[in-house]
Amino acid sequence: MTEALFPTRWKHDKPPSLEKFVDTFHDDYACAEYLSNKRWPGGFVCPHCGSRKAWRLETRPWLWQCGGGEKDPGCRKQTSVIAGTVMQGTHLPLRKWFLAAYLMATHSNGISALQLQTKIDVTYKTAWLLLHKLRRAMVNPNRAPLEGNVDVDETAIPYRRDGDELKKGGGSSTANQIWVAGAVETIGRFGVGRIRLARIANRSADSIVPFVVANTAPGTHLRTDELASYNKVPDRPLTKVNLKRSPLPAHIVFKWIHVLFANLKRWALGTYHGFREKHIDAYLNEFVFRWNRRRSFGSTMDRMFGIGQRLAPITYRDIVGDTKRWKQDHIEEILKMCHPNKRQIVRDLVAYYRVSRVEIMDNLVWWVDRLYEEDPAAYRSFQWEFDGVPEFADRRIYKRRKSGRPVLTPRRPGEVKMTGRRYRKPDPLLPRMLPPSPVSRGSVAIAAE
Ligand SMILES: [Zn+2]
Repeated sequence: MTEALFPTRWKHDKPPSLEKFVDTFHDDYACAEYLSNKRWPGGFVCPHCGSRKAWRLETRPWLWQCGGGEKDPGCRKQTSVIAGTVMQGTHLPLRKWFLAAYLMATHSNGISALQLQTKIDVTYKTAWLLLHKLRRAMVNPNRAPLEGNVDVDETAIPYRRDGDELKKGGGSSTANQIWVAGAVETIGRFGVGRIRLARIANRSADSIVPFVVANTAPGTHLRTDELASYNKVPDRPLTKVNLKRSPLPAHIVFKWIHVLFANLKRWALGTYHGFREKHIDAYLNEFVFRWNRRRSFGSTMDRMFGIGQRLAPITYRDIVGDTKRWKQDHIEEILKMCHPNKRQIVRDLVAYYRVSRVEIMDNLVWWVDRLYEEDPAAYRSFQWEFDGVPEFADRRIYKRRKSGRPVLTPRRPGEVKMTGRRYRKPDPLLPRMLPPSPVSRGSVAIAAE
């Protein structure tokens, strides 16, 4: 029997079983070997002197040290096989990277950071960063645009932030929408090719035309619904389908684009429990990547690692992007997500000191302390509540604990051994330590006075 009886996702480039994979990449040495085979298929070649003689460092198996060649006999330069890949500069063992990439590539729905953290025994933050680094490498900047027959459409992903008003009437309960444009290659009557997705600002021609131009080759036959924004797309013959007059419903006329959007939304809810607006581009890229490479395992792994791509190093800050500039642009949204008590404190401090809200938010504790020291009367007049302000959550006054037993046990009853080591009683920590609850704050105020 040559043909599989049941449908299979992997026809040619089938992934190994988990058991086999872990067996193959059981330590960093094996992982580095894989990377070096990709980089130097015919064996090590020094990029500095061209020598083929090298040693591997035992403690850092991803480093090759040149043994010197004819041009430069003294060349002892070290070459790292993880340079230029997503793993550059990592502190994690390479086998954890390999296992994470295997899980990400073989599950059709991917894996969330919450799930991954126990699988490879790292913290949530590490797992989150690792997954985002893998996502970074998924997009090839030089990828070929779609061509042939392409269906284009757009959809809205609803979301609601904490504190947003519910919409009045109608079935939609959300105030905000993220617009996503999609394009899909259709082949023949039933076949489907590659896809593209991108976040767009809205459904106007200013948003949609750049998406279509960037993702389709000139001469592509486009098929869309009646939205007027598509009229301005240049150099691409356009077929418009009036779905209101069509005898068939939209999900049959535009089958694949509907499958695409429906799968995207289910994937967002199922795997990640919804998208955040901030990182939606990374998730859209991941979805496109999964779709376009769903039948090949090896190239998926290599692409995610960034083998042969010479990626620039990526840091946590690059991905999170919470630079001062970003915070300034989004200060309203950031404040909206904060507890009302914190908003009140920030508002009062901004009014008192005349500095920016971002500055106050970045060093909230420092500014509160400063006010307390410089102007206690003003501090008391604001009557701030610190409940729900995480910066002050762990600021409690702990009593000094007495040790449970004396340093030297008495040898006979009544004897007290003097050790001669006296500790100066430390100065009270007030007013640096602000209490969180109003009850203890009263006592502090008395103590301070
Ligand atoms: Zn060399």
